[in-house]
Amino acid sequence: MLALTSESCLKYLDEEHSCPYCNSKLSCCTAPPIHVGDGLGWGSEIIFICLNDECKLFVNGWKQAEEQYGHVASFRYMMTPGAKSGTPMTVYSKDAFTDSIIDPEDIKAKDKRLTREKDALAKLDTCVKEKNLEPVLYLITDEKAKPDGRLQACELLEQINDLVCIDPIRNHTFKHNNIAPRCPPALNHTCTAHQKQRDR
Ligand SMILES: [Zn+2]
Repeated sequence: MLALTSESCLKYLDEEHSCPYCNSKLSCCTAPPIHVGDGLGWGSEIIFICLNDECKLFVNGWKQAEEQYGHVASFRYMMTPGAKSGTPMTVYSKDAFTDSIIDPEDIKAKDKRLTREKDALAKLDTCVKEKNLEPVLYLITDEKAKPDGRLQACELLEQINDLVCIDPIRNHTFKHNNIAPRCPPALNHTCTAHQKQRDR
C-alpha cells in the first residue's frame, strides 16, 4: 500500500469518472499486480472501476460471457488513470475488486504523514544543536513512523534535555513495545539532569 503514495499515483486521485453504461461514479481501486488473462500489468497502481451491481454491462455480461466464451464471468467498466476512455473488463465473480476499493482521502492522509516523517527525520541531524524538540517528539509519538527513526529520536531526547518532552511522552500510548522502554531512561535522565541543575 505504501507504493500508492508515489507521485504517479497521487496525481490521479482527484480524477472522477463515470460509467457510460449506468452513469455511476467509478470506484478507485488498487490494480491487481497482473492482469488476469493476458498476463500484462495495468501500468498503473490504481484503476477506476464501475462496481455498480445494477450496471447494464455487469448484469447483461453474465449471459454474454456464457454465450461467447462459455465462462461464468461478466464485465465491469474500467479505466486506467489519465485515460480518455475505459473498456469492459472481465470479472469472474460479483465480489471481484470489491475488497480493493481505496479511499483517495486515506491515501492523501498517508502521504501527508509520510512527508511529516521525512521532514522530522531530516531535522534529526541538527535538532540537538538547535534544541529543537519538535521532530524528536513527533517521531517518538508517531506510531506509524519507522522504528529506526523513532529509536534514534529516543536517543536524541536525552541530549536535547528539555522537560517539555515529559508530558507528551507520558501521555502517549505506545503500540510498539520496542520504543516505549527506550523512553523512560531518557525521561529519567532529563528529570535528573534538571534536578541537578536546580540543586546546584
Ligand atoms: Zn456501470
